[in-house]
Amino acid sequence: MDLPVQAAPPIAPAVPQRHKTRQARIVWGENVVTVGGDAPVRIQSMTNTDTQDTEATARQVEELASAGSELVRITVNTPEAAAQVASIRERLDRAGCSVPLIGDFHYNGHKLLTQYPACAEALSKYRINPGNVGRGAKHDTQFGLMIEAALKWGKPVRIGVNWGSLDQDLLTGLMNENATRTAPWSSRQVMYEALVQSATGSAEQAVRWGMDPAQVLLSCKVSGVRDLIAVYRELARRSDYPLHLGLTEAGMGTKGTVASTAALAILLQEGIGDTIRVSLTPQPGEARTQEVVVAAEILQALGLRLFAPSVTACPGCGRTTSTVFQALAKAIDDHLRARMPAWRARYPGVEALRVAVMGCVVNGPGESKHADVGISLPGTGEAPAAPVYVDGQHTVTLRGDHIADEFHAIVERYIEQRFGSKVKTEA
Ligand code: SF4
Repeated sequence: MDLPVQAAPPIAPAVPQRHKTRQARIVWGENVVTVGGDAPVRIQSMTNTDTQDTEATARQVEELASAGSELVRITVNTPEAAAQVASIRERLDRAGCSVPLIGDFHYNGHKLLTQYPACAEALSKYRINPGNVGRGAKHDTQFGLMIEAALKWGKPVRIGVNWGSLDQDLLTGLMNENATRTAPWSSRQVMYEALVQSATGSAEQAVRWGMDPAQVLLSCKVSGVRDLIAVYRELARRSDYPLHLGLTEAGMGTKGTVASTAALAILLQEGIGDTIRVSLTPQPGEARTQEVVVAAEILQALGLRLFAPSVTACPGCGRTTSTVFQALAKAIDDHLRARMPAWRARYPGVEALRVAVMGCVVNGPGESKHADVGISLPGTGEAPAAPVYVDGQHTVTLRGDHIADEFHAIVERYIEQRFGSKVKTEA
């Protein structure tokens, strides 16, 4: 029996619909970083130097900024640290680095922001943890002093709640309330509610005291992927403040990278999150900038932003015993990343370049044709020849011992022809 053929509806592209938030402006000099609204999802990071060490802190801020961090947070934990903030800012300005600095305050922020006005002025945003601004009657007074400083200096604030330092008075109140329910919530649900209420309640208090709601950002950080998803979905449902998104204490290496990616990707795909931080614990000898690299890769993989040309490489399998293609893929990737700081200005749009380095004939030619420039290396038993495709067309077949160098040169020529011409035309 013939079944009727039904026209299938076209499959819609999975483009996230951004959760509507207000737009904050985080400013240093002429550098205005917008967060929220229709601004791109921003990358931020945090130093791990002692803020008293002006030189080391300024150097790390510069490294993070040149890796792509659009905002950098520094710890301001002691009077000695607060006293150095303006000097760190001056060093950065002298070096031509205008990345806005965010001060991370806990316990004594009300004192530091009032006793060190140069620090309050040099920072572009204050992070306030409502769980660490004092308890009881002191809570409102100390929180109020920080909001007063933000108003005086015209700075935005982030109400940064963390489950490791949750407002204990609020949590106790919610637990007592829960005990009276006929069907009590789980302790996890009470904790979620406390996180969200701490953030939104503190934000509303700051707005009542005069803060522009657009200049109040929120975060509710936890270290579990599902917990983060649950809390941010609710935070987005209940508020329109710009949201800072990230797992706290994500962990080291692969674990930290995967956990952050899993959590952030789901939320970003749902349109939730206006600025992200990947809180990786650096492995011994690993650069602090790795957290910026991972954040950029997450945004680029989701198609939300473009930072650097992408290299598609196959994983390799039993069809190729050689590691030539792995070495070539890595060499091309390293080369493109290393050249990006110079290319960004010289070749506008180069970050959209797609390069493919493939291991054999099975998917090699097809994947290479989808890329701007692609090479299909010979697998086991294939003739020792590597066809190269440019804009989907087979242009040349490389052979011999210098395939890597010749392919590098082809990619360079392509970049010059495609992206260099824009500069010449516009000049
Ligand atoms: S392209 Fe070839 S070498 Fe690469 S994974 Fe596929 S079959 Fe294996």
